[in-house]
Amino acid sequence: MTTVTRFAPSPTGYLHVGNLRTALFNHLIARRTGGKFILRLDDTDPERSKQEYADAIREDLEWLGLTWDQEERQSARLDRYEAAAQDLRDKGRFYEAFETPTELDLKRKKQLNMGQPPVYDRAALKLSETERDALRAERGMGVWRFLLDQERIEWTDGILGDLSIDAASLSDPVLIRQDGQFLYTLASVVDDTDMGITHVVRGSDHVTNTATQIQIMAALGFAAPNFAHHSLLTGPQGEALSKRLGTLALRDLRAAGVHPMALLSLMARLGSSQPVEIASSLDDLAAGFDLAHFGAAPTKFDVDDLYPLTARILAAQDLSVVADAVRAAGVPDDLAPLFWQVTRENITTLHDLAGWWQLCRDGAAPLVDAEDQAFITEALALLPEPPYGPEAWSNWTNAVKEATGRKGKSLFMPLRKAVTGRERGPEMADLLQLLQNKPTL
Ligand code: GLU
Repeated sequence: MTTVTRFAPSPTGYLHVGNLRTALFNHLIARRTGGKFILRLDDTDPERSKQEYADAIREDLEWLGLTWDQEERQSARLDRYEAAAQDLRDKGRFYEAFETPTELDLKRKKQLNMGQPPVYDRAALKLSETERDALRAERGMGVWRFLLDQERIEWTDGILGDLSIDAASLSDPVLIRQDGQFLYTLASVVDDTDMGITHVVRGSDHVTNTATQIQIMAALGFAAPNFAHHSLLTGPQGEALSKRLGTLALRDLRAAGVHPMALLSLMARLGSSQPVEIASSLDDLAAGFDLAHFGAAPTKFDVDDLYPLTARILAAQDLSVVADAVRAAGVPDDLAPLFWQVTRENITTLHDLAGWWQLCRDGAAPLVDAEDQAFITEALALLPEPPYGPEAWSNWTNAVKEATGRKGKSLFMPLRKAVTGRERGPEMADLLQLLQNKPTL
């Protein structure tokens, strides 16, 4: 049987690192087995769903190379949800309820005060036809709730293992809102079945949904797919990430210069028993991917981990891969090969290239210790005007050594600091050749 997975974001915002984990896992599972990966836009809420976000979701997935084989939109499938709803009505598993949100809130508070779980009391089930008509005339359409079978719902989760949830501890889920809008819980069940989804992998915040969806599927005569729920990401100290997710949007990370393979390599391994390694491709990641390596504990995520990974990936790139970025930094094409050789191991992201080129073109603000002031003045007098060839650095340092008697670190470090304005950086013999002007104090 072909594996079919899906990533089902709601186009109500930008994708963030948490969403990426879900998308990546589903993509890798399909990719590893030559299966199918579907992008499904859960856009049944016309007020919150925006075309702009749908476009952004596609763009972010493309940036990461998480290509999909098929795209679906829930808003185009409303007739399918209506048919399923009718089927549930016919089977006596769907009932209309008229409580207002305030009334429901009051009921919950009463239950909690009496030490009872705040589960919907099914008062609407007891309404007579006449009472229902009267409520409808007074309040308009009700919501539609699915009548749960009050038994234990059990499944073997691909990550969490054997799960058992008592349906009596759950409220009958609302599947259609008062305004007629189908809710995700029903829509997703219909889609997963119609689209032949074999594996549903999503965050552990959906465990309760899964329990109710298993019952809805059974009621509709659908076979349940395999479910797996990955842990949710937390910040580095274990703090909830939800408030920070706005700052961890994939597009912001892209703008900050994070390399897509850094993000993918980290996300494919974080929270698993396998170490994070830089992968060469998504196929590479897919080959070693197995949900069985993941655990239930919340997964700590530190956005700062993405930068050393990005730096290592960049250091290994050929110029051809980064040529556009080198050009965009202002580097003339004839200097690009040497420039990349000089900078590749001295950048964190490609954004740093502009600073290095500025240094080559305009010079740095020199860093000169008080005791080196006279030494640097003397040394600079011994440096000819550019262009500098491959021998320029050794010629210069030899001349300075001879004139001043300095050698080793006390010779080289002050020169480096004066020319580059920093203590560490590229080979000076290489860098010097890129300087467009003679350094000055
Ligand atoms: N639209 C749902 C969400 O983003 C999809 C959950 C699912 O994968 O079923 O949470």
